[in-house]
Parts: sequence; C-alpha cells; structure tokens
Amino acid sequence: MLKFFLKTPGVFRGRGIASLSALSESHQMLQKTCRDFADNELKPNAAKFDKERLFPTKQICQMGQLGLMSIAVPEKYGGAGLDYLAYAIAVEEISRGCASAGVVMSLQNSLYFGPLLKSGTEEQIEKFVRPYTSGEKIAFFALSEPENGSDAGAASTMAIAKGDRWVLNGTKSWITSAMEASTGIVFATTDKSLKHKGISAFIVPRDSPGFSLGKKEVKLGIRGTSTCSLIFEDCEIPKENLLGQLGDGFKIAMKNLDSGRIGIASQALGIAQAALEVAVDYSNKRTSFGKPISKLQMIQQKIADMSLRVESARLLTWRAAWLKDNGMPYTKEAAMAKLAASETATFVAHQCIQILGGMGYVTEMPAERHYRDARITEIYEGTSEILRLVIAGRVLKDMA
Ligand SMILES: Cc1cc2nc3c(=O)[nH]c(=O)nc-3n(C[C@H](O)[C@H](O)[C@H](O)COP(=O)(O)OP(=O)(O)OC[C@H]3O[C@@H](n4cnc5c(N)ncnc54)[C@H](O)[C@@H]3O)c2cc1C
Repeated sequence: MLKFFLKTPGVFRGRGIASLSALSESHQMLQKTCRDFADNELKPNAAKFDKERLFPTKQICQMGQLGLMSIAVPEKYGGAGLDYLAYAIAVEEISRGCASAGVVMSLQNSLYFGPLLKSGTEEQIEKFVRPYTSGEKIAFFALSEPENGSDAGAASTMAIAKGDRWVLNGTKSWITSAMEASTGIVFATTDKSLKHKGISAFIVPRDSPGFSLGKKEVKLGIRGTSTCSLIFEDCEIPKENLLGQLGDGFKIAMKNLDSGRIGIASQALGIAQAALEVAVDYSNKRTSFGKPISKLQMIQQKIADMSLRVESARLLTWRAAWLKDNGMPYTKEAAMAKLAASETATFVAHQCIQILGGMGYVTEMPAERHYRDARITEIYEGTSEILRLVIAGRVLKDMA
C-alpha cells in the first residue's frame, strides 16, 4: 500500500533543512495512515500488551500489510521502497500507539534489513529479505553479550570454519524479538587476536542445530516485546550464511546502528508525543481551585517545556533521516537525535505523571506506562553515555 506514497520528488516542500516544518504531501499522507492505524489498532490494546506481556502478533501482521515492516526495502525485493524520513515518521506514529510495536518495526527495518541489503548477496536477499517483508516473519539482531554491551568490539562468541559449515559457540544477551523470530543476524569473532577487526556477521536461522533460547527477561517497559538470551552450543550454519566479508562484522554493526538510532529516536518521540497528549487532555479536564489546571501558570510552564523538547528532538531526528536519504554523513546527527529524543521521552513522561498527580501513578491512565517505556530508549542501541562520546568525538575532530 505504501508503494503509492512518496512518488513526489524531493523530501520536503522547498529545499534543505530550513523547510523541515513542511512535510511533502506524501509524507503527510503516510503520517495520517500510521496515526489512524495507531489510534484504532494499537492505542486501545497497548495497556493489555503491557499488562499481559503479549507480543502484538496481529497488529504486526497488519503493519506488514500496510508496508510498514519493510518500509525502506526496495520494491524489487517486496518492500515499500520509501525513504528514511518515511521510516522515522512511521516509527514515531506507531510508537505513539504502542512503544513495543514501534521497536519491533524499527529493529526489523534498520538492524535486520539494513545489513542484508547493504552487505548481502542476491541469494541472501532473496532468502532472508523477501519472505520477511510482509511482517509474518520476524527477525532479530544479536550483538550484545553478557560481558560486552557498550564494548561490542570485545565480543567473545566464536565462529570457527569446519568444512562447508560455520560452528558457533557462545551466548548473546538481551535480544529483542528472538522468541518470535525465524532468523537473525549474529555477530561472532573468527579471530579474537584481531579484536573488533576479527568480528564477522552471520545469518543464523532459529532452527539451526545447537541454537537455543535462554529465559525471557522480565522488564520495566516495552513489555509487549520479548527479550532473551541466545545460546550457541556447536551451532552449525551453512558457509554461505556469512554476511559481507570476513572481519567486516563490527563495521556492519556500527553502520547499521547509525540508522537504528534514527528508529529509536522516533520510538522515543512517539512515546513523548503520547505522554504530552495525555497531559494536555487531562489538564484541560481536571479542575483545581475552581478552574482547569491548564489555566495555572506552573502547569503551562511544564506543557511549554514538554512541547519545546518534543519539537526540537523531532527536528534533529528528521534532519538525521534527511541526511541519510541524501547520502550525507549522519553518524553524529543520528547520535544527537537519539540522545535528545530519548532524554525528552523520559522528561516528558515524568512531567506527564506530575501533571496527572495521583492519576499519573496508577495503571488506570497510560502515563506510568509511557514513563516505563521511555526509559529503555536511553539504553539500547547506544546508551546516552556512549552517544555523548560519539558526538564529542565527531565535534572535536571536525573542529580540530
Ligand atoms: C530491553 C532491551 C532490549 C535490547 N535489545 C537488544 C537487541 O535486540 N540486540 C542487541 O544486540 N542488544 C540489545 N540490548 C542490549 C543493549 O544494547 C545494551 O544493554 C546496551 O548497549 C548497554 O550495554 P550493557 O547493558 O552491557 O551496559 P554496559 O555496557 O555494561 O554499561 C553500563 C553503564 O556504563 C556506561 N558505560 C559503558 N562504557 C562507557 C564508556 N566508555 N564511557 C562512559 N560510560 C560508559 C554505560 O553507558 C552504562 O551506563 C537490549 C537491552 C535491553 C535492556
């Protein structure tokens, strides 16, 4: 369906960053489609997914039918063939309805399809991209390990060549969607002495012999997703499942985390926008000392600060997407976008609870869920500390 969008040339009306406030008509149509879907299918069910820790299977399939699960995959491989700005807009709107659905969508699009489209052979793309575009099949991205999260270059999962197979041994931790997934990308070292240059990427189907799942983690937020460890005990995969060149794994992971960060920034924006809407609505209805609390200056100050931060973070996120779409470097900008948007989500959800008073603290209202969901966006795909290192590194280099 989304194939019919975005045939208008140029990302924005007008040119460049200065005109960021005016989305093209086709991006606006996409935004409305996603917003309507979120309002009708996700928002009414998000509390249930959270409470019962349910993966939104039906809704993910519906998102697949809309083209959202393969939004930036070229049409020739069965995707919607849209740009990264479209991806950012769509992930925000979906996350506004349900943060769990938002991260499943973000991960599949950027961290799974991204490496395959960039480094995969035609055979790998046919086998591992096309069947996943409809949303009926889910994939994972396994970089983190129990001993190495931020320091991903120290991966200790080993891959050894044996005849026409690779044999994997080790454990990956915190892997999103692994319980529902049919396959995924696993990073393992083929030569520990080369440190990060010894890491390679492998496509590992879930039914590979020697591959099992650890326990499902019990989480603070995004409870509609599964998170678990992956255990490889002499796990065998075919030789042709090496993705890219031997030793290219770390580069593949880092490059794709740049685009993944646009997705998590968008997820954070969706959570922040949802919390802002709850706060504004409540402040107009709740009266105190004889008038709606929205008439109180202290509440107005909170609403001003919340919306200022949401709009600033959105501009940073759309700028990063625009740079990517136009083939320009965007590592620093994606890091800035995720840092700003994730800290905004936590700030806005926190203020939302404050504006709702006691009602903010109970599960009858969504404020506490938004607060819990927001927190992860400051941790995965680069913690806020690591993002500050990335940004400072680039700024110091650029200004040297
Ligand atoms: C719900 C959830 C889902 C996840 N999904 C996935 C997934 O699908 N795939 C995947 O591969 N991973 C996934 N992760 C893992 C996630 O990316 C890591 O948790 C994250 O990168 C941080 O790694 P860590 O937990 O090992 O923390 P550590 O790296 O141990 O960091 C601990 C603290 O030290 C700080 N720190 C570390 N190094 C530095 C430094 N050099 N300078 C300053 N501060 C530093 C960190 O910022 C953090 O505050 C997920 C995690 C969670 C919780």
